[in-house]
Amino acid sequence: MGRPMTRAHPFPLRDVDLLAGVHSRTRDQMLHLAREFPVDRLLAVFRANAGLDTRGALPPGTWEDFGHPDERAWSGEDYPGPGVAPTASLLRGHYAGHFLSMLSLAYASTGEQALRKKADEMVAGLAEVRDALAATGRYSHPGFLAAYGEWQFARLEDLAPYGEIWAPYYTCHKIMAGLLDAYELTGSAQALDLVAGMGHWVAGRVLRLERAHLQRMWSLYIAGEFGGMNETMAALHRITGDPSFLRAAGAFELDSLLDAAVAGRDVLDGMHANQHLPMLVGHLRQYEATGERRYLDAVLALWDQIVPGRTFAHGGTGEGELWGPADTVAGFVERRNAETCATYNLLKIARSLFGHTRDARYADYAERASLNHIVGSRADISSDTSPEVLYMYPVDPGAVREYDNVGTCCGGTGLESHVKHQESVWFHAPGQLYVTQYVPSRLRLAGGEVTLRTRYPRDGRVAVEFGAAFSGELCLRIPPWAAGARIDGVAVPVPESGFVTLRRDFRPGDTVALELPLPLRLVPTPDDPTLVSVELGPTVLLARDDATTTLPVAAAAHRRLDGTIAGHTAEGDLVSVFGRTFEPAWSGGDHRHHMYLRLAEPEIAFAGSAPGVPDRKDAEGWSFLTGLWAEGGYADADAFFTAVHRGVVRAARSGLLSREEAVAVLMAAASSTLDNPTVPRRGVLGPDAADAPRVTRLTSATGQAVEDIVHWSLPPDIGRGDPLPVVRVEVSGDRAPSGWYTREPGCTVTSVASATVEVAVGEGPWQPATGANTPVREGRQVIRGRATDSAGRTVHATREVAVDTRPPSVRAEVRPLGPSNVEVTLYAEDDVSGVDRVRWRTPETFWGVYQEPFTRALREEPQTLEFSATDRAGNTTEVQRVVLPPLR
Ligand SMILES: [Zn+2]
Repeated sequence: MGRPMTRAHPFPLRDVDLLAGVHSRTRDQMLHLAREFPVDRLLAVFRANAGLDTRGALPPGTWEDFGHPDERAWSGEDYPGPGVAPTASLLRGHYAGHFLSMLSLAYASTGEQALRKKADEMVAGLAEVRDALAATGRYSHPGFLAAYGEWQFARLEDLAPYGEIWAPYYTCHKIMAGLLDAYELTGSAQALDLVAGMGHWVAGRVLRLERAHLQRMWSLYIAGEFGGMNETMAALHRITGDPSFLRAAGAFELDSLLDAAVAGRDVLDGMHANQHLPMLVGHLRQYEATGERRYLDAVLALWDQIVPGRTFAHGGTGEGELWGPADTVAGFVERRNAETCATYNLLKIARSLFGHTRDARYADYAERASLNHIVGSRADISSDTSPEVLYMYPVDPGAVREYDNVGTCCGGTGLESHVKHQESVWFHAPGQLYVTQYVPSRLRLAGGEVTLRTRYPRDGRVAVEFGAAFSGELCLRIPPWAAGARIDGVAVPVPESGFVTLRRDFRPGDTVALELPLPLRLVPTPDDPTLVSVELGPTVLLARDDATTTLPVAAAAHRRLDGTIAGHTAEGDLVSVFGRTFEPAWSGGDHRHHMYLRLAEPEIAFAGSAPGVPDRKDAEGWSFLTGLWAEGGYADADAFFTAVHRGVVRAARSGLLSREEAVAVLMAAASSTLDNPTVPRRGVLGPDAADAPRVTRLTSATGQAVEDIVHWSLPPDIGRGDPLPVVRVEVSGDRAPSGWYTREPGCTVTSVASATVEVAVGEGPWQPATGANTPVREGRQVIRGRATDSAGRTVHATREVAVDTRPPSVRAEVRPLGPSNVEVTLYAEDDVSGVDRVRWRTPETFWGVYQEPFTRALREEPQTLEFSATDRAGNTTEVQRVVLPPLR
């Protein structure tokens, strides 16, 4: 690393107002919940645990629920052990912590006194609980505060597994973080008293343990998950100056991960993403408190292991909460990608790393993830009971966004995310004011306000209006894709640093006008150039389609010279292109969506011209078009023609183009309109030579340009002789609307010209294609075909086929719930395409889609419940019946 840099700091929330735009939608929807949801419901789990009156309130639900009725607020000593005493809902209290953070953040963001009052009420309620727990004298320190006894912490020290306990320090962190937010954002002294008491209790527990033992605790899957305890303890040290808090922060470290990161080793494969990301936020606070460089170096190194190589287009990471192999995105698209909590924490890290480094790539990530994943994780509906947010924001073909998440981890972080959208818009450093994201907002400076007015990302016009004097540098972020940006009408190149710096004496009334073009781009995944996301400026677009197989897209004829896509139309927030409708990832909608499309170009084409030549592949999957657009695009027409020439020669030499076809491609490229040429252009073929193309201009007698001529040549060794074979992989049979074949399809590989034709399924061996159907297995697979002519020239073709012919297997579990009720759980499994939905009904109800256990009241007569499940391919299980017993 180079010289240490002066840090840039974000402005406090109270100095920035969020104005109307894409982000304010979710802010307004979440503020409604913040105002309406009763404090008594949040406190109920705490009060019940402390033996206080719950005032008839029910907890929020799901993970945030009363424990088992037989559970007591045991200490470490009187816990009777697993199997002796039943327990339940062992993460309770975490959601209330997030809710207190939300109230505090929302108050700081809006100045709304009712929100502060509500935060005060929560803090006062928690203080009563703390005092009641302390009065029992059973816990190791009077600062102890939780919605269960201290026993989970003691059992963690005994290395108890997840199942017996559930991440007690994770919950502790959420409660402490809520109290810290209440202190720092609403000024609640009572909150500081509570959190400092918890801090002393935590320090007392962890500082008496050997470091090796702590490492074993923190390595336990889920049970050892401690959220950002190091962040919270470092913050307590910053506020109080008490060194024991900083020492305790140092107890919450996972040495194996820190050491590996500093040594440049990548050990993330298989690790739980959100178990470790909050710890990195804490390491940054520890770096700030101690100046110990290894904390910062570890986070910088880990960031590079996660972004972009483990990050999906919307900024999310992980599959089933876990990280996968390095530099694998396309290869990691499965059915449970991208937990929203992980993105919430990555954004905290990005914000902090930007402050430390002022490196625009952290701001680039922050824009991508906050706009697409976070805003898009909030359903576009109002609720006064549910945060209506996503747990997973899936990226697999035909995925469905499932909102709600009352009481879960992502429900908790979701409460916070939407009331602080303006936190990473403006930064300051000595003599400098940074705008890192174009979120409409108003910044209060000494002496007046600076307002950022824009409809971005709906259009690219941004005005920065000075209502205050500011002498210094205004640093405006220019995203890497924004070629052709203008400031006050003057073109600015995309700067290396990511920021354009305007050094001026700004006076009240001055305005800076920034215009960002919003190009439509196909952004390839790092590990597969043919799997692309469609992005319009900063917005990731989702294709709406009910298929659950990867959608193909032929894009070559839409490419401009710079690789961007021409010809899309917009209607409101919907975009049409490639014959499809797309919605922004930030819509909060629930159509089945496709975040990635598969580039599939049967024929070579350029904007405005098509030679009618197949885009054949070689054995490695290379084709003329994949090669031509692999690098994104071209600075000028000459560079494009040079690349076309190089690609045509390579394709012809490897037997993918005949000479006649090669010439046709060259002529089509010359007459393409992809660069909007000012005069007509055509190609001519010169004598055999390996020369690069050259362009000459014909002018009229008066000096007017009339026509441009592209002079092509081909080396003499190129493809004389018979036309090349064309190989086709054809699949017969009916495809369901899902895109899957639900009856076994037939597959044939044929060649147009005379050639030896072979077929291979997936990575299997090549076999002669006899003309008869090749069997296709269940699942997703690639059928490969190749044809070799008598001259030994081989061409390849591939086709993705998804087959699921069997419906899910289902079963019902019915267990008694007291004398007059039963709890019914319906299970469905489908290993091939996955379960899409489970439905059930009784004679007097409609089919309901319901995957959680549910309760039915018993009757005098037995009741019949019918159920079935449908997989993602569209196969539905025959209706099954379960008979519920009569009342006894
Ligand atoms: Zn989560």
